Amino acid sequence: MAFPQSFLDELVSRNPIDEVVSQYVQLSRKGSNLFGLCPFHSEKTGSFSVAPEKGIYYCFGCHKGGGVVNFIMEIEGLDYPDAVRFLAKRAGMEVPEDAGYQSTYRRQERLWALCKDAARFFHGKLQEDCGAEARAYIGKRGLSKGTVTRFGLGFAPDSWSALIDAMTKKGYEKQELLDAGLALKSREKGTIYDRFRNRLMFPIIDVRGNIIGFGGRVMDDSTPKYLNSPETVIFNKRKNLFAMNIAKKSKQGRIILTEGYMDAIALHQYGFDCAVASLGTALTEEQAHLLSKYTGQVVLTYDGDEAGQNATRRAIPMLEKAGLQVRVLRMQGAKDPDEFLKKYGADRFKVLLDGSQGQMEYRLQSLMSRYHLENDDERVEFLQEAAKLISSLQSPVEREVYGARAAEAAGITAEAMKLEVSKAFKRRLAVQKKQEEKKNLAPAAAQQPKVRGIRYDNLRCAMAEEGVLQMVLREESLLDELRELTGGMFSVPLLGRAYDALRRQREQGGLCSLAALEGQFTKEEMEHLTGVAQKGNSRVNEDALWDYVRTIREEYGKEKARQNQNLMAMRDRLRERKGLDG
Ligand SMILES: [Zn+2]
Repeated sequence: MAFPQSFLDELVSRNPIDEVVSQYVQLSRKGSNLFGLCPFHSEKTGSFSVAPEKGIYYCFGCHKGGGVVNFIMEIEGLDYPDAVRFLAKRAGMEVPEDAGYQSTYRRQERLWALCKDAARFFHGKLQEDCGAEARAYIGKRGLSKGTVTRFGLGFAPDSWSALIDAMTKKGYEKQELLDAGLALKSREKGTIYDRFRNRLMFPIIDVRGNIIGFGGRVMDDSTPKYLNSPETVIFNKRKNLFAMNIAKKSKQGRIILTEGYMDAIALHQYGFDCAVASLGTALTEEQAHLLSKYTGQVVLTYDGDEAGQNATRRAIPMLEKAGLQVRVLRMQGAKDPDEFLKKYGADRFKVLLDGSQGQMEYRLQSLMSRYHLENDDERVEFLQEAAKLISSLQSPVEREVYGARAAEAAGITAEAMKLEVSKAFKRRLAVQKKQEEKKNLAPAAAQQPKVRGIRYDNLRCAMAEEGVLQMVLREESLLDELRELTGGMFSVPLLGRAYDALRRQREQGGLCSLAALEGQFTKEEMEHLTGVAQKGNSRVNEDALWDYVRTIREEYGKEKARQNQNLMAMRDRLRERKGLDG
């Protein structure tokens, strides 16, 4: 959907990037830029920069970048229109909506409101007479009053229409109850009835604080134990995590991933406000990505049974791919965190948490369990695999520690294992070196964009185009002198488009910054453009500017000549053929 440019210009001006980013990242000034720890990848020294004058941010580590709207999209996990609305709200601005979008957005808003009212209804029922059994169950599970309020727990009465009656009285349509997954339609009679009956209700809240669905748990042994809302326009199980709305604000520096709502809630009650649970499905890539937005470390606390261990094995590579450090918590004497906390208390759990296994130990253990170590052949195979695995550790001390552990398990001396590991490490270095050399053979590769799908075919020209962009972004009035240079002359279409867009902004008296153009470029394109803008120290230097312009025009001329030549050659070939035919 398109918002009017004048509205976007005002939106960007009224949400200064340094102010907005400061609400998420601690920034300190270095020259004309502000620097801080990147919220999008884990790091110890700040490579995340914000340029208030240019209205952009850019990370020199992970190359994420963009304007203020991109920043909100990235950090709040919103799409473009919603990020615009988010910022409009922040600045107290009215959003001009176009009709088509308005209706879907309004529809979502209605369903969010409906779920909120439903949660209030369930929460109210919990205090009434009909909620006695649910209250007793909550007491038996040891949940405090504060926890019940904090998570908005509720009770769905044992009735076919209690919720439907209450919500239609509030003005919601029956269709909306169906759309929100709160009601079902009977196929024979065509009537609708409540989906959740006689269940303890857990509202599921997204990172923006909207209630998007529910989990309902039985209070006896009937099945299914948990009933979840179905997928709806507001509820996507793959993209959300239970309690993420609270855990995202935690200061504990990690997120604990549990298997069930009850485990997550118990952890919160014991002071671990960083616990989340997946929504009745295996961990997805989207969830791993969501986690990586808020933390650098995830602790897995799945059940010790086979299903739980399989889930752990599946989750590790997925979380690692999202750039997360993964640890696995092993609980002795309890099957899940809820039971452990009740038996041993929060302090013991904290000890467990701090000592939770690194993924290397976990991997080594699962490698061990795959071999019969009393068999010589298998033992040799295990040691080779283990050496390969351990050689991936950068620290020699760590290599020694884990090497010794593997040696002990296989019944060989630590010295012999050390030798194996050192051989594997050297092999690894040799492979790395070869890859480096390959890279160095093509020095131009270093200048190539880091963003997928963008290539510089003519490097000389591309560098000149970057130079022009850098300068006009610094001093927009230069655009007035560059009338004869158009984006069509650029060898890199993306840079040309950005240049033209800035010219248009200048001509129309709009805001001349990348931040004002976010809607016109994809996230990847924006990342590349902000990277260009933040590269080097692009002081305004008119001599250099004219050199750049000359280069672009020269190369453009050459390119045109080449095209003409091709055309002529083609024409000649055609003529020749005609001559032969005729
Ligand atoms: Zn970064």
